[in-house]
Amino acid sequence: MKEKLHNLGITEDATCCICVNTDENSEHLFFSCDYSNRVIDQIGDWLRIVLPTQNILHWRFNRNGSKTRKAIVDATINSCMHNIWRQRNSSKYELKITHPNKLAQIIVEDRSQNPFLSSFEQEDWR
Ligand SMILES: [Zn+2]
Repeated sequence: MKEKLHNLGITEDATCCICVNTDENSEHLFFSCDYSNRVIDQIGDWLRIVLPTQNILHWRFNRNGSKTRKAIVDATINSCMHNIWRQRNSSKYELKITHPNKLAQIIVEDRSQNPFLSSFEQEDWR
C-alpha cells in the first residue's frame, strides 16, 4: 500500500486519503480510520450486531451463528471492505468521497442486488 511505497521513496505523501489524519496503511484504513468506523458501525446496526473495528478478520472465523447468518455477515463485511477501498481510491484520484451514511446505504442496497444474498429470506438478513 501507500505506506510501503512511501518507505521505498516512491511517493511523498503517505497520509490517509480519506481522513488526512494519520499515515495510511491497511490497519488504519479498515480498522481505525474514523470514516471506516462510521461505515462499519452503521452496517453493524443494520445487521443488529456490534462489529468489532479491531481484529475483524479473526472475529469472522471464530463466532457462533447459523451458516446462513455467517454467510450473510461475511458477504456484507466483504462488501464493506471493497467499498471502503473504492472510496479511498476515489478520494485519492478523483478527490471525491461519499458520505459514510450514504456509503453504508449503498452497501446494504448492493446486498439486495446480489443474487447470492437475495436467495435468502429477508428475516435471515437481520
Ligand atoms: Zn483515515
